[in-house]
Amino acid sequence: MNLLYSNDRKAEYPASWYAATANSVDRFPALCKDETADVCVVGAGYTGLSAALHLAEAGLNVVLLEAHRVGFGASGRNGGQLGSAQRMDQEDLERLVGNDDAAKLWDLAEDAKDLVKSLIAKHQIDCDLKPGVAVLGLSSGEQEDLHKHAAHLSDRYRYDQIQLLDEDTGHALCPSPTYKGGYLDMGAAHLHPLNFALGLAQAAVKAGVRIFEGTEVTGIDEGQPAKVQTANGTVSADHVILACNGYLGDLNRKVASRVMPINNFIAATEPLGADAARVLTQDVAVADTKFVVNYFRLSADGRLLFGGGESYGYRFPADIAAKVRKPMTEIFPHLHDVKIDYAWGGTLAITMRRMPYLTRVAPNILSASGYSGHGVGTATHAGQLMALAIQGQAEGFDTMARVPALPFPGGSALRSPLLVLAMTWFALRDRLGF
Ligand SMILES: Cc1cc2nc3c(=O)[nH]c(=O)nc-3n(C[C@H](O)[C@H](O)[C@H](O)COP(=O)(O)OP(=O)(O)OC[C@H]3O[C@@H](n4cnc5c(N)ncnc54)[C@H](O)[C@@H]3O)c2cc1C
Repeated sequence: MNLLYSNDRKAEYPASWYAATANSVDRFPALCKDETADVCVVGAGYTGLSAALHLAEAGLNVVLLEAHRVGFGASGRNGGQLGSAQRMDQEDLERLVGNDDAAKLWDLAEDAKDLVKSLIAKHQIDCDLKPGVAVLGLSSGEQEDLHKHAAHLSDRYRYDQIQLLDEDTGHALCPSPTYKGGYLDMGAAHLHPLNFALGLAQAAVKAGVRIFEGTEVTGIDEGQPAKVQTANGTVSADHVILACNGYLGDLNRKVASRVMPINNFIAATEPLGADAARVLTQDVAVADTKFVVNYFRLSADGRLLFGGGESYGYRFPADIAAKVRKPMTEIFPHLHDVKIDYAWGGTLAITMRRMPYLTRVAPNILSASGYSGHGVGTATHAGQLMALAIQGQAEGFDTMARVPALPFPGGSALRSPLLVLAMTWFALRDRLGF
């Protein structure tokens, strides 16, 4: 089964609140003849769009091929949280790669946040960027752990954007009885994810990128140049960038054995009016400490955008709203009768260690994926790092690529059943509270 077509109609956005409030953008044509390029980028999410934009700005001739529409994948459907740090905690990274590389990875993660903010400013992308992401724990022990983590970031990395929340100040921000405090990170931010992707596409086109939508890449003949195959034309390119993330399928087996697609779901309620203050009293986003993380924020028109619930098969559940309503009403019991106007799913990609997998799959073919729910900044940045690597400045790319990436047990064939078992265990652990 091909995830590109398992849950969606060809070249159409899902019925999300983001698609309903998207800035208008022209449809790009499909590829219908053979082309040549310096670089052919496959996939028009943050990774591919950022890579294409940076390459074109450096004067290279770039073709970007997208099976559906710009921002069709996770980049147009996500929780919009631009989080700090890498997805793996710095403390764990220090143990895994040593203090020097961990410090470089911290700096790269700060660069990722800065890059998103500066791209939005430079290209005047209208995507509701606002500061602030709170991380909230479910017990006083978790509150303590979060405070220790914040102290570590402050002591070792001089990170000074975090305000600690005890139970009372946590409730003043988010009045849910579930949470027992944590912290508010004002260096992190949130945004309208699809409008960010659409803005990147406009900037890329202005810089000279040729975008083709409705154009699935079906194979790549390695070589110099590489030949990228689609139904109605090929692209001969000196370099290829794979930016397909959860939708990669079998396009590259080495990547597929280390990067696993999973699904995650979001619901948008009706506008909450005065009840919005019973969800959040500031315009910040929240993520909690559960393994199957709950994350939420208010939309510009006062809806609760709530993300929660994962699934590990190919198909989305038939009733996504019901799936999300469950964790949503556990956290906000007063919303049990609220109307859900939009509910949608998206496919993202995870790795065994929750660090993105950047790799050279051939001397002239680079790939970046597996951001593990942390791609708003990291994917945008990985695109820039690949663009730089192609121009001979590979230091950032190599630092990311050095993080050891484990294959999923069983490789690309068996990874899904094993993951279902593992994830079911972790979800059960969440429910039992240990
Ligand atoms: C519900 C959900 C919530 C999330 N919340 C957050 C969050 O709050 N914060 C955060 O940082 N991250 C979050 N993420 C993760 C984040 O969205 C991703 O890490 C990021 O968007 C990845 O970008 P990408 O460009 O690599 O992949 P995608 O945006 O998925 O783009 C890949 C593109 O490649 C195209 N493609 C694939 N194969 C082919 C092919 N063969 N030929 C042509 N085109 C192809 C696809 O159609 C797709 O458009 C979330 C993800 C989901 C699904």
